[in-house]
Amino acid sequence: GLNNKTGKILFLGLDNAGKTTLLGKLSTDQVHQHRPTFHPNVEELTLGGIKLKTIDMGGHIQARRLWKDYFTKVDGVVFLVDAANGERFEEAKKELDMLLQTEELAKTPFVILGNKIDLPNAISEPGLVQVMGLTGLLTGKQTKVAPGSGVRPLEVYMCSVVKKVGYG
Ligand code: GDP
Repeated sequence: GLNNKTGKILFLGLDNAGKTTLLGKLSTDQVHQHRPTFHPNVEELTLGGIKLKTIDMGGHIQARRLWKDYFTKVDGVVFLVDAANGERFEEAKKELDMLLQTEELAKTPFVILGNKIDLPNAISEPGLVQVMGLTGLLTGKQTKVAPGSGVRPLEVYMCSVVKKVGYG
């Protein structure tokens, strides 16, 4: 299904959120893996014509001059949050807010993935929506956003990348 499509999807989030693990689960034997040596916190692979790229937020990405390189021609953003690490929710929210305010991404659909729900201390979906400040920004999973309506599609899902729950 993916073979005739082209596009670029970014997997973003703080370090340790589970981006690399998710990318690994999505990859198959046909995948060309490529780890750019110039950025240790960027990983890339291509699935069919779709380029999947993970970037750790924080640090280098706060250099605004790099944003255009990373964020132009992006078809979708998957923002991973470690749902079991409450100590870093605030930091994750800050990075997500920055992305949501980035002009290049103004029309880009976002999926917020609350990962690691296999861990006992993981926050609930309504809890994550609240701590990430997403109330009122959600566009709903059943109702499709009309193209041209100016509303950015934004959905939240909870998952466990290692237990293969909640994505696929
Ligand atoms: P990245 O820095 O965002 O790329 O995060 P990684 O993919 O390297 O994952 C960071 C750590 O979290 C690793 O030890 C993973 O095994 C672990 N991890 C990733 N996903 C899950 C999950 O769903 N549940 C649990 N319990 N651990 C996970």
